[in-house]
Amino acid sequence: MKLAAIAGVMSIVPFKMDIMKVFAEAKDYVHINWLNGAACTGCSVSFAQSADPDVIKILTSITVGNSGLPIALPDWMYVLHPASGSLGVELINDWINHSGPGKKILIVEGSMQQEGFCETGDKDFREWVKDCAEVTDNIIAFGSCSAFGGIPHAKGNVTGAISLQDFLREVGMDDKAEKVINLPRCPGHPDALLLTLASLIEGVEPELDNYNRPVAFYGKNIHNEQCPYRPFYDRGIFANFGQSEQGCRFKIGCKGPVTWADCPTRKWNDHTAFCIDRGICIGCAEPAWPDGEFGPFYTELPSLPTVLNIPVETWGTAFVGAAAAAVAVHAGRKALTKKKEEKGEE
Ligand code: SF4
Ligand code: SF4
Repeated sequence: MKLAAIAGVMSIVPFKMDIMKVFAEAKDYVHINWLNGAACTGCSVSFAQSADPDVIKILTSITVGNSGLPIALPDWMYVLHPASGSLGVELINDWINHSGPGKKILIVEGSMQQEGFCETGDKDFREWVKDCAEVTDNIIAFGSCSAFGGIPHAKGNVTGAISLQDFLREVGMDDKAEKVINLPRCPGHPDALLLTLASLIEGVEPELDNYNRPVAFYGKNIHNEQCPYRPFYDRGIFANFGQSEQGCRFKIGCKGPVTWADCPTRKWNDHTAFCIDRGICIGCAEPAWPDGEFGPFYTELPSLPTVLNIPVETWGTAFVGAAAAAVAVHAGRKALTKKKEEKGEE
């Protein structure tokens, strides 16, 4: 299964059987340990809400050979595991000490705070993450808080909250930091996690961009390459606050021009709609979010209309036609993107 091929389509539903086949054909168990730091648990809820395919069903109902045991043992998961208290602590330690067959995958939700702000059992969360990162085969940072710091890392951050990668570098685990697969968005998208898990279980490392995000999900700019409202932008038709008329959301603060994620095609809520259908893109997939150019949310981006020194109102009339659009896209990308490194084929 090629992650890019499956991730590139609007819905993963047609690939349900392929995804299930990957899990069914896995030769060994997969031991998942899902830790929560500074988080609202929205990413766990988002993952659990995935409807078709039902991820929890996939992870628990497909068995290894005739063993009767599920292919993916959620050895521990803060939000959904039935165990709690000392039994939960025991399960995390069992996962750390497990040396039998099977791959270990660590999923971290939430950002990393300074010592003393987050504890599980008698141990600081930072120590748990260090111990788990040390013994795992793969690390996934699910959601913007874990991937880039997210809301806990925003201006006014009093707990020293940082991303998982920054934390691992801070404690000298640079090699582990390099391996982290970042799946930002607030909350994380269940398709991205399910497909990344399926890919890792098959032994395929996804191709990542400069921010360790799989290119398959974060390779395209929302405004330049995907947004269905782009024709309005090109014709200078803009929606305003409190109005339901059609139009591009640029003037009410849409951050699609500086955001790379596949939301317009993948969509949310069982693939029915995405943020711009109901308001604006606030740019939650980007490392600087929610500060810098991403805040305040309902503030117009200052930079885009000057890309070609042409006022945004006249952008469309000046650039009608495929050739002109291509020039604009190229110029926009050049001005707004950070150069992405090619890291080989998936
Ligand atoms: S500014 Fe936002 S709504 Fe308008 S075309 Fe770009 S991404 Fe779409
Ligand atoms: S459309 Fe924008 S704000 Fe909405 S989930 Fe995607 S990246 Fe985040």
